[in-house]
Amino acid sequence: MLKLAVRQTEAWVNRHAARASASHAALRPDLMRYGIISDIHANVEALEVVLKRLKEVDAYICLGDIVGYGPDPDQCVDIVRALPNLKCVVGNHDLACVGNYDINWFNWMAREAIVWTQTRLSPASRGYLLSLPLMEMENSLTLVHGSLPQPMDYVTSEVEARQVFAEMITAVCLIGHTHVAERYARAHGAAHVERRSWAQGGEAKFEQGISYIVNCGSVGQPRDGNPMASYGIYDSAKRELKVKRVAYPVERVREKIETAGLPALLGERLALGR
Ligand code: ZN
Repeated sequence: MLKLAVRQTEAWVNRHAARASASHAALRPDLMRYGIISDIHANVEALEVVLKRLKEVDAYICLGDIVGYGPDPDQCVDIVRALPNLKCVVGNHDLACVGNYDINWFNWMAREAIVWTQTRLSPASRGYLLSLPLMEMENSLTLVHGSLPQPMDYVTSEVEARQVFAEMITAVCLIGHTHVAERYARAHGAAHVERRSWAQGGEAKFEQGISYIVNCGSVGQPRDGNPMASYGIYDSAKRELKVKRVAYPVERVREKIETAGLPALLGERLALGR
């Protein structure tokens, strides 16, 4: 899978680099407000609460990991795929749950949940997850689950962020994967990378001459110490992105996890946001 991912990444970069400027000029950025979701992880309670907050947007971006860990994979896939004007990339759990990623990359809890999910996904959900690309581009935003150039790597430090900045062909890259809401910024030509936690929410106005990597956090399994569901709203006319948090019925999900026979720790960590 890794080799395949790298090959697909190279093809993606070649394809998009050539047409990037032309396609951006043709878009109508003044019209678009985007709802940004990521790492839903089959937590339908969190997803529904977040989508209620995103009713007014024109389009949606999903940064992958719709399934894995949680008790409602099919429901979450059905809801996400029905969102209007959606651009969605695939995550490592999505791939593993359709047998397209080696489960030995995961810890025991994740592996148990992946095996559980594999037997429960409908053919339609499987087909949808298999159809998702590793990367996308939308309105001058690069969308990838984890990192560049390897889509399933993690960005957890300024050093790793610098590697992504070196590969970016847009000013802003949206990522997920770590379940930690934060943003990195680097002025063009500068070596210094500034990192800022958005675990309590945050906002940025994207300025000319600065590149940004933004992680809007996780809808269904936050790990930044804040158990509330995390999501983003991007206004492309104002070039403003906000990350917000919203409470959802964690206890209900915890009960479902235990009833389903999934590892109880997966429910306990939801209450802690870890
Ligand atoms: Zn995830």
